Amino acid sequence: MSSFHHELIRRNPGEPEFHQATLEVLETLAPVLAARPEIAAAKLVERICEPERQIMFRVPWQDDAGEIHINRGFRVEFNSALGPYKGGLRFHPSVNLGIVKFLGFEQIFKNALTGLNIGGGKGGSDFDPHGRSDAEVMRFCQSFMTELHRHLGEHTDVPAGDIGVGGREIGFMFGQYRRITNRWEAGILTGKGLQWGGSHARTEATGYGNVLFTAEMLKQRGEDLDGQQVTVSGSGNVAIYTIEKAQALGANVLTCSDSGGYIVDEKGIDLALLKEIKEVERGRISEYAERRGASATYVPGGSVWDVPADVALPSATQNELDGDAARTLVRAGVKAVSEGANMPATPEAVTVLREAGVAFGPGKAANAGGVATSALEMRQNSGRESWTFERAEGELAEIMRGIHATCFETAERYGAPGDYVVGANIAGFERVADAMLEQGLI
Ligand code: GLU
Repeated sequence: MSSFHHELIRRNPGEPEFHQATLEVLETLAPVLAARPEIAAAKLVERICEPERQIMFRVPWQDDAGEIHINRGFRVEFNSALGPYKGGLRFHPSVNLGIVKFLGFEQIFKNALTGLNIGGGKGGSDFDPHGRSDAEVMRFCQSFMTELHRHLGEHTDVPAGDIGVGGREIGFMFGQYRRITNRWEAGILTGKGLQWGGSHARTEATGYGNVLFTAEMLKQRGEDLDGQQVTVSGSGNVAIYTIEKAQALGANVLTCSDSGGYIVDEKGIDLALLKEIKEVERGRISEYAERRGASATYVPGGSVWDVPADVALPSATQNELDGDAARTLVRAGVKAVSEGANMPATPEAVTVLREAGVAFGPGKAANAGGVATSALEMRQNSGRESWTFERAEGELAEIMRGIHATCFETAERYGAPGDYVVGANIAGFERVADAMLEQGLI
């Protein structure tokens, strides 16, 4: 296996996040490969690490002053054994092929764990929406979709949002798709507006799902979220709805953050104020402390993981919680850490937390609620239905309980009780591998 990963690094140079994400999965597969020689013989690990298709394209657009910009667009269609490629689009200056491949690779297993029929893909651009006007964002989205549209289809590839892509961007992209194709095809994107094919609870789903997954992990240990001190990083869509659900379950959420620093609010985060600043004004969290009063402090720079907590929910971005941060959390007595973002804990952090016996929810399992609710949106679209919030949220809760049970039972079956990393990787892998075995050499 290590010689294969060596070869993978050689063939995919300059993509450290992709190397990290693949190694983390490969390291846990030994027991399933030993138990199932037909999987090794069919070279399924090697096949799954190679994307089915990778698309890169030019995205030219003009800013409000008339200046021309050229960004790069990506869509990596990684695996469609279980269903159409499914996964978000990320607009952030850090986006490159390696980042999109790491996200697409994770998405394969995450989507498999939901138990629904969705394959894995991811895309995006190195476009930076920060500080851009609505008109600039619209022109960018239209240019991006002008190329991407030819690759989409409800049975082929169905993107959604991720960092930098929310309801506004999905709207602009859907409008351009419709205009180019002259077809009102709800099923080509998820995360749509509620009046035109979107699903209730999709906006909330990733954060809500991670909190539900955390509650299931705590329940295994005879605890719940009521009265727990919780720290959350980030202040985007995932962080906001993580805070909302954690508060609803009785937790005291102390923190949020952005790339400039973090907020500690001893009275608990005022979610209405945070939503106003982030969702309406699209501002910075430093403003939160200015407007909240004495209970809140803004700490520029620094690490949000320095704040002692019972439960830590990293909800910002990859590799935001390193080995030192994990040790700090363990010293402060953290009981559970669960990944709302994709791969926020570094490999060293994961080792520290697992060795300390902390309940650790890997993103593939813990943050799968977003994409699962996207699949519910696809189901509503194909039946021309529109479910109530209660129904969509109820199905989400059921799916999260199912993912937790699958990971828990799989870890036990493979001799690693309580290890959700092993459980998630093996259960996700086996479902995809079995589908590929049955479908021939693909
Ligand atoms: N970007 C989200 C994720 O990381 C959601 C993808 C989707 O809904 O297709 O899973």
